[in-house]
Amino acid sequence: MLSTMQDAPLTVTRILQHGMRIHATSRITTWTGEPEPQRRSFREAGERASRLAHALRDELGIDTGDRVATLMWNNAEHLEAYFAIPSMGAVLHTLNLRLPPEQLVWIVNHAADRAVVVNASVLPLLVPLLPHLPTIEHIVVSGPGDRSALAGADTAARVHEYEELIAGRPASYDWPELDERSAAAMCYTSGTTGDPRGVVYSHRSIYLHSMQVNMSESMGLTDKDTTLVVVPQFHVNAWGLPHATFMTGINVLMPDRFLQPAPLAEMIEREKPTHAAAVPTIWQGLLAEVTANPRDLSSMRHVTIGGSACPPALMKAYDKLGVRVCHAWGMTETSPLGTMAHAPAGLSADQEWPYRVTQGRFPAGVEGRLVGPEGEFLPWDGESAGELEVRGPWIASAYYGGAGGEPIRPADKFSEDGWLKTGDVGVISPDGFLTLTDRAKDVIKSGGEWISSVELENALMAHPEVAEAAVVAVPDERWGERPLATVVLKEGATVGYGTLKEFLGGTVAKWQLPERWALIPAVPKTSVGKFDKKVIRRQYADGELDVTEL
Ligand code: ADP
Repeated sequence: MLSTMQDAPLTVTRILQHGMRIHATSRITTWTGEPEPQRRSFREAGERASRLAHALRDELGIDTGDRVATLMWNNAEHLEAYFAIPSMGAVLHTLNLRLPPEQLVWIVNHAADRAVVVNASVLPLLVPLLPHLPTIEHIVVSGPGDRSALAGADTAARVHEYEELIAGRPASYDWPELDERSAAAMCYTSGTTGDPRGVVYSHRSIYLHSMQVNMSESMGLTDKDTTLVVVPQFHVNAWGLPHATFMTGINVLMPDRFLQPAPLAEMIEREKPTHAAAVPTIWQGLLAEVTANPRDLSSMRHVTIGGSACPPALMKAYDKLGVRVCHAWGMTETSPLGTMAHAPAGLSADQEWPYRVTQGRFPAGVEGRLVGPEGEFLPWDGESAGELEVRGPWIASAYYGGAGGEPIRPADKFSEDGWLKTGDVGVISPDGFLTLTDRAKDVIKSGGEWISSVELENALMAHPEVAEAAVVAVPDERWGERPLATVVLKEGATVGYGTLKEFLGGTVAKWQLPERWALIPAVPKTSVGKFDKKVIRRQYADGELDVTEL
């Protein structure tokens, strides 16, 4: 028997129209580095999105299904592209401007992007790549910055100015009726552990994911909030915030290219966001900044941290500043919201703590299971560790296979029954809280036992003289692999390896303690600010680290 309900497609267009109409006066504030930021209402941004769609269709000839790339910071124009491109039936392809040039070239060609909207400040990165980007027919330049690099560019692509392109065009658009399952946006994985792979989000997956982001068991923001979106719009759709904001009228504060700790602290003090989202390294940097130069962060009631494991010591430090950190887990393949660590009801602050340091619980739209080494499903007993697999309406079922190609389902990423293999190893408690112990590729396999690199890192980073620490597996004749601890000390710190090892011994089993130690000036980071352990492993193999054995 069929239902009697209407079947309205869940599309990005609906989110755009809703935000423009119902939350017309909510604001997007973009930091400019000038005394005054740029301010724009949702209605204005929506109208500009309509103008952009007209320009893309009429002037650039962008058609249904065409990929339009963005190479941009977080700003109002990027948000306009976020809505214009999918709503007109084309596919938004956000490019990570921190990727190595050869990866960017590979990704643009693989996606066969026809046009790219680029911030002028990023032109020095784009222009040298243009000879290798034959599919790009149009370059749309936006925002402040020198455009002279384009003058001698080796490309047949036409160059447009964003503001000139949209000027004078109609402020409304007769948006097409789209199939909710059609492609709306795509994003390649950042390749922390391998080659980039294209994930293609549907209108439906974005719509449902946005609703989840807005639920109080997730980020739970309303039009009374302002969110500081530090997580880049090219990093898994800024964790869904751009779409979520238009759904509930959340005011948006965009940092543009001012992502250093000092301007971030200044924008928080001046613009008073109530929420912010970013990876742990951003929060580490901001903490060091406000410790040295105190600022008023009191407006920021809560912060979403994800992308890599948040060291508990960092959470505690923000607790002391009155900023509540909520830990979240996700991936490019999961849109990204997979879990969030709100403690269950009715607990004291002390009782909440063990829940807050986990990766959290699955929302109703995400199912999880743990798979052991023999492919067996493991119980949720808080002890049995296995690879996490997930499924749900905003979880990828395949990777983009290129124009005309079939979707790709590598056996190491998708189970035969269609679940996504996350590559993350962890346990789930009987009450459903996920604790990730490591990435499968980072876990240290010592004499048949597993050592969690994340656990060692968290324990090290709890030492008051340690700024950062990354632990990687290195080959060992006797045990197969053993941990190497690479440590960044705080300025002026003098603590020795022996003391650190003793300190670790307070929380970590003796057989897991690293015997190899090296001081490094900074932990190498990936394009989205995660610890880049590939680089440390290579540095060790090439003898570039000054290693002491204890
Ligand atoms: P990449 O795999 O290239 O880093 P993603 O941004 O998709 O690209 O990263 C997803 C991965 O990041 C997850 O599989 C997991 O290993 C890690 N991750 C994300 N959030 C967390 C978290 N809260 N705790 C631990 N690891 C996390």
